[in-house]
Amino acid sequence: MRILVTNDDGIYSPGIMALATAATKFGEVRVVAPDVEQSSMGHAITATRPLHYKKSPITFEGIEAYRVNGTPADCVALGSHLWSKVDVVLSGINMGLNLGNSMWHSGTLAGAKQAVLLGMRGIALSTPAGNTEPDFKKLETWVEKALAALLENPELDLVNVNFPPEPKGMQWTRQSVRQYDGQVVPGTDPMGRKHYWFTVVPLEPADEGTDRWAVENGYVSITPLRLDLTNESQLMKALQKQPMPA
Ligand code: MN
Repeated sequence: MRILVTNDDGIYSPGIMALATAATKFGEVRVVAPDVEQSSMGHAITATRPLHYKKSPITFEGIEAYRVNGTPADCVALGSHLWSKVDVVLSGINMGLNLGNSMWHSGTLAGAKQAVLLGMRGIALSTPAGNTEPDFKKLETWVEKALAALLENPELDLVNVNFPPEPKGMQWTRQSVRQYDGQVVPGTDPMGRKHYWFTVVPLEPADEGTDRWAVENGYVSITPLRLDLTNESQLMKALQKQPMPA
């Protein structure tokens, strides 16, 4: 199995090192990742300037690694162009959870989505980052368990995985969709200029069975996703009740 590993925290993140190392147990691994952090860039692609790659100076033991001046989606497109017959793209391990509404702007998940757009499978993996760096050594066995479970099931083409700091099990989940209070908080920088922080405050607790609920309760959350955003029930209703003028 050919496994391309990317992320959005950049190639120097300890999270991608942990993921690439775990991936070597499952197949042939190559790392192609952004040269600088691309968190919250979503599914952006670079279309107005050329992309370049360079061999990474840091040691991924026995793993070829390349850094790209682009986004996670760029890395997947370029990586799979230069290294043919990639079966699966692993994206992460992100330092920061990607649950619920954060899937909309996650660069980590975009790496996995781009894989599916290009005919490969994609798995995004994330864990919370608090005041201290995540303990990837502690997560190692759970990362391997999750990869073993997902890689052996080829029907799962797009999956979002989130690890709590100390997992006690794994759960299949659905995306948590709840209301947020999106706030832009003004402040002043040291030069006296106004600046703004973007924050989101959840207004409702997470429902049981959702990704957020699982992680809050100590479980590794595994959510199968799809690219088709069509609202089927609304489409059916609209087709029946509101025919468009010819
Ligand atoms: Mn990130």
